[in-house]
Amino acid sequence: MLEGLMTTDKVAPSAGSWRKATVPCPPRTDNELIAAVHVLGASLLVAIKSAINIEELKQAGIYPVSPPVAGFHLHAWQILQTMLVEERRLIEFLVGPHTFTDKGTGATKSNRDTICINCFGSSITDTWWMNDDVRVRLRWRAQRTNKRVAHLDWLLIDEYDSRVVSGIWQTGYLKEIVNQFRDFTEWLYDRRPHVAEILAPQYIDPASARVMQLPVPGPPF
Ligand SMILES: [Zn+2]
Repeated sequence: MLEGLMTTDKVAPSAGSWRKATVPCPPRTDNELIAAVHVLGASLLVAIKSAINIEELKQAGIYPVSPPVAGFHLHAWQILQTMLVEERRLIEFLVGPHTFTDKGTGATKSNRDTICINCFGSSITDTWWMNDDVRVRLRWRAQRTNKRVAHLDWLLIDEYDSRVVSGIWQTGYLKEIVNQFRDFTEWLYDRRPHVAEILAPQYIDPASARVMQLPVPGPPF
């Protein structure tokens, strides 16, 4: 199956890993998309498992505060990083692939290697699209996370107090993410039923049940 993915995606070496954003994703078989579903589903379950662990630690008075802060707890910090990385990847999938403008040609491009929402549609225009308010909210969350998790940023030191009560460690955003994945799965049933039949019972249903344990997310931070 993995071999199939690689051969389908083969391009001339000079093409690099970037492509015009208007170019459709390579056509995928059901088996390839099912493999992608397992990647997405595992990411979702890891994020939720980490979030539940964070809430359990919180009940015990342990918060994933930044390393310079009194009460820093290495395990709590480790779980937080895991949750945020997985959450960010899931948001990136839901909002659509990252694009940038090529300075030489002015063309909008995206990474051809990304497992993206468009890989599941039949064309560049036949794609699932989330509610705009949720999109703005989740994109904002992902941008904030990216700055703090992908880089050693001074914000990790300057913003530690806000993270304790309403900040980046909030776990409830995963509720919104699971809701969006459920909506995406409904859309997928009409196009790729064999893929949706894997995604729903193996990942979305258990994720929905587990995410109920998490608190309602606070206002954007
Ligand atoms: Zn794609």
